[in-house]
Amino acid sequence: MDENSVTKLLFSSLALDPLILRAIEETGYTEPTPIQDQAIPHVIAGRDLMAMAQTGTGKTAAFTLPMLQRLLPHASTSASPARHPIRALVLTPTRELAIQVHESVVTYSKHVPLRTTVVYGGTDIKAQKPALMNGVEILVATPGRLLDHVESRNLQLNQVQILILDEADRMLDMGFMPDLKRILALLPKQRQTLLFSATFSEDIKKLAQEFLVDPITVETARRNAAGENIKQSVLMVNHHDKFHALVELIRSRGVNQVLIFTRTKLSAAHVAKQLAHSGLTADAIHGDKTQQERIKALDAFKSGTVMALVATDVAARGLDIDQLPLVINFELPTHAEDYVHRIGRTGRAGASGEAVSLVDSEEERRLVEIEKLLNRKFPREAAVVPSGYQRSVKPVPARGHKSAPADDWFSKPYVPSGASKPAEEISVAPVASIGKPKQQVAALFRIRN
Ligand code: AMP
Repeated sequence: MDENSVTKLLFSSLALDPLILRAIEETGYTEPTPIQDQAIPHVIAGRDLMAMAQTGTGKTAAFTLPMLQRLLPHASTSASPARHPIRALVLTPTRELAIQVHESVVTYSKHVPLRTTVVYGGTDIKAQKPALMNGVEILVATPGRLLDHVESRNLQLNQVQILILDEADRMLDMGFMPDLKRILALLPKQRQTLLFSATFSEDIKKLAQEFLVDPITVETARRNAAGENIKQSVLMVNHHDKFHALVELIRSRGVNQVLIFTRTKLSAAHVAKQLAHSGLTADAIHGDKTQQERIKALDAFKSGTVMALVATDVAARGLDIDQLPLVINFELPTHAEDYVHRIGRTGRAGASGEAVSLVDSEEERRLVEIEKLLNRKFPREAAVVPSGYQRSVKPVPARGHKSAPADDWFSKPYVPSGASKPAEEISVAPVASIGKPKQQVAALFRIRN
């Protein structure tokens, strides 16, 4: 029996149409993931669903495949927009996740005449209008932009049969509840609702009680918490040596792709700039970048033109990179939960991966929170900082201040041996930056060209 027939056998037991099965086969999946196994039959049967699943578990296919199956009777090759009303609405918290979910819908619906498009904020609303006017059965959207289109009368939601809330916990965290309520009021009462969330908080349960009818609940094991296929480690380092430890770490692993997390937009921008000055191709994605800049950076990272991508937690939501070998926490996240999301970018779909956290003494408290959440303790190893880059003398704090500037890891560029171009001189963070608003500090850190 060849691999394809095994695929057919396993996915076909989920009662999916041969046209959908063909698209699955073409992606190369050999068997359904646990969340797919558990969710798909119930969704095909028309039940509401409350699923606890993190990104990386195969959750997108878990709702997209049965959604396509249920919409198949409406598939039509007719050109008339009237034959293509919005029948399924997928809401996501971020643009990145919306784009990614849409890509999955396109992949899995390749052989069926169902139309799909995606709308999100930060880009020209007019450019999104023609696809809506032509008619689409499946619309992937972020809540705010969807409401903009509703107000502009670019779409109607009165024929929606299936509503999917993806990463519902994030939507609530990001303050989308009022938007969600407005959207839900526009949908037919008679519909199927699927709620996917990484966590089941009280707020999520309340949301489910309000909008779901007698839902089936499915939970997948927190694969990341178990971390079977992700090698996790912690390297302790002095705050001011962090950047040099980072470059050394990247070099020591010899990987061609690394995703680096910072806590703030400012750090993300600094780290990316510094890496570039150290001869590594790097870019950053964070909330201050335009949508175009973020898409460009992501594409460059996915295609391998850029080897290091530096991201904040929000910007990285839903990021899906096949075979990502290494995730580095340059700074630990404020919420321990985010650690789980971060490291889940590697070791996806059964592949192995590595997650390393560079931790300074001020972050120990955060590390302990993460250990509590994961119910495990990490050995504290020392990070390697190349000789000549260690700070033997502590930076001198400005008069009247207790400590030196927080970002003084930025002070001395690291030039790896073999770097193609010499690092340019970087200005040292002036102690005058302490207590200044972020924008002013950013200006003080600007690279001298
Ligand atoms: P998600 O949790 O939806 O973000 O999916 C995580 C990754 O798993 C994506 O790269 C999918 O393409 C991949 N994936 C989804 N379903 C399967 C499957 N049944 N077998 C292997 N990989 C899968």
